[in-house]
Amino acid sequence: MENQDESKKDKKKHKKFSKSEQHIEVKNLNIYYGDFLAVEDVNISFKPRNVTALIGPSGCGKSTFLRSLNRMHEVTPGARITGEVLLDGRNLYDKDIDPSDVRAHIGMVFQRPNPFPTMSIRQNVLSGAKLSGQKMSKEEADELVKQALSDVNLWEEVKDRLDKSALGLSGGQQQRLCIARAVAVSPAVILMDEPCSALDPISTKSIEELITKLKKQFTIVIVTHNMQQAQRVSDNVAFFNIAGTGMPGKLIETGSTNKIFDHPDEKATKAYIHGRFG
Ligand code: ADP
Ligand code: MG
Repeated sequence: MENQDESKKDKKKHKKFSKSEQHIEVKNLNIYYGDFLAVEDVNISFKPRNVTALIGPSGCGKSTFLRSLNRMHEVTPGARITGEVLLDGRNLYDKDIDPSDVRAHIGMVFQRPNPFPTMSIRQNVLSGAKLSGQKMSKEEADELVKQALSDVNLWEEVKDRLDKSALGLSGGQQQRLCIARAVAVSPAVILMDEPCSALDPISTKSIEELITKLKKQFTIVIVTHNMQQAQRVSDNVAFFNIAGTGMPGKLIETGSTNKIFDHPDEKATKAYIHGRFG
């Protein structure tokens, strides 16, 4: 019991992040699953209120890298990192930092829309804020629901069915709801792992438009396999590659989207974006 109280005290030591802390810099990051080095020695910086697209072949470690940015990687047993992920100069892996604060500040959206199936649309939007212990009056909660759903261009479509199940929504609407759930805890950074790969072209377009709108407020890092999408939504691109099975993924090249698509420095980057592998 005593130990538990001690660890709770420890976690309270650092102050929570403020919305203005948006600049992520990754230094000498190695990411492991047990003894397996999945991603090796990444150095990259993500500009505030920019969209950075992570591209590269399957298995090169894009999802693993993304999850290391908000400390979701370590949730997998045996998973760990060496190196640093700095938020405005502060290492997110420092001992006095609570991973749940990191995950609230750096939100995540997954490949398959994953609204909580037993919750209403309204409860889904509020779920993250409730988890983080935020106390709200009914009016404040209503306002937050409206704001978050408006931010993701979903309010008009769902305002008359807020207490209905989230599962009644289309795939594209569910994905926007999941983005609203992330937005409702006031993050500064949003990570998206192939957020459109399960969606039809029209829903994809609406998510892409939403990304362009959200980057006015948030730093966004998005994994995508769709080169047209990377060109449409991103300001910067990071190309990851893998030399062979069992080898670690590496960051090969990073730069503005125009540069990476028009005249990349590396042959492997050019081959990948033109669809030639190996
Ligand atoms: P990508 O998203 O680029 O397709 P991943 O990050 O999913 O790549 O995978 C990178 C490497 O890490 C792969 O070799 C994959 O098999 C391995 N990996 C992914 N998740 C786990 C896990 N939970 N346990 C062990 N190895 C994993
Ligand atoms: Mg992946």
